[in-house]
Amino acid sequence: SGQDRIAALASNENPFGTSPRALQALARITPARYSEAASPSVVSRLSEKLKIAASRIVCGNGSEELIGAICRAYLEEGDTVLTVTPCFGLHEIDSLAAGAKVIKVPMTGNFKFDIERLSAELHKQPKIFFISSPSNPVGTTLNHQELQQLLDATTPNTLFVFDEAYFEMIDSDFPDGLVELTRRNDVSWIDLRTFSKAYGLAGLRIGYGACSNPQIAQNIRQCLSPFNVNSGAQAAAIAALDDESWMHNSVKNIIDERQVLSDHLINIGIRVIPSQTNFLFLDLRTDASVVAQSLLKKGIIVKPWKETGYTNFLRVSIGTRKDNEFFAREIAVALQ
Ligand SMILES: *Cc1c(COP(=O)(O)O)cnc(C)c1O
Repeated sequence: SGQDRIAALASNENPFGTSPRALQALARITPARYSEAASPSVVSRLSEKLKIAASRIVCGNGSEELIGAICRAYLEEGDTVLTVTPCFGLHEIDSLAAGAKVIKVPMTGNFKFDIERLSAELHKQPKIFFISSPSNPVGTTLNHQELQQLLDATTPNTLFVFDEAYFEMIDSDFPDGLVELTRRNDVSWIDLRTFSKAYGLAGLRIGYGACSNPQIAQNIRQCLSPFNVNSGAQAAAIAALDDESWMHNSVKNIIDERQVLSDHLINIGIRVIPSQTNFLFLDLRTDASVVAQSLLKKGIIVKPWKETGYTNFLRVSIGTRKDNEFFAREIAVALQ
């Protein structure tokens, strides 16, 4: 765009950066040596924190890598995958790449998950059910009852993949997915989390999956290369887990900024979907790609949604106060 000032609000990164302790750990690694295969130190640290056996935890080069590995491990040509629309792109793309057919259940008019239709599809026993809660791109989160209804509808023939990339940001009245899943011996599940969002390590690429049993974890591991997570990512992730107060503080700031931006956008007449994440999904009532193009010319990068039925929607990440104000000013101009 030729602009000096850039507001990067398209990828849901942490606008407040990274824990200083994670940066220090990164500076101490030995790049000449290979990383530890299968990230045993991170896995053991997560095992203590989550109270889940290490044999049930897998680390990936971002949780994105795990989504691909799950599809390679479980899908064959002609299998069916169930997900939601609008959805996180890779849930669909990696399923299609593995030869599966993807059924997408639209969210309701007020952007809740359509529990009835999803339950009906779950009764048909798809091979995998992918759902992100909080939803990327919408920000909606399943409540206790909705999650239980979906789990009740899941048969042993379906792998329930619960993508909690924004888990650290949700209000306390929503369920901790991992705790709820752990109570269900009757469902095969994987809970995905990441260091990319709340922990501010997006560029290092590390995420993890906790599985209902060690065999599922092993099946995924077999679809990964041994040194999939680099030594910087492993060291920084452990340091980030040792500095959760930094993470909690940055999440608090993100939520405060989200409130300010959301109130402002509502005031200027934009429909904002309530969000439990570090982004907002906006109904612009006009082609969002056109608006995104004019914002780009000003140096503001946002994500216009491309799925059928949602092309009037724009996803904008919460940035610093300055970036959010810049965005709010320019979107008002772009919509005039
Ligand atoms: C950001 C995101 C991911 C990917 O995270 P990485 O760990 O950076 O690969 C996965 N799922 C959802 C829903 C996301 O929003």
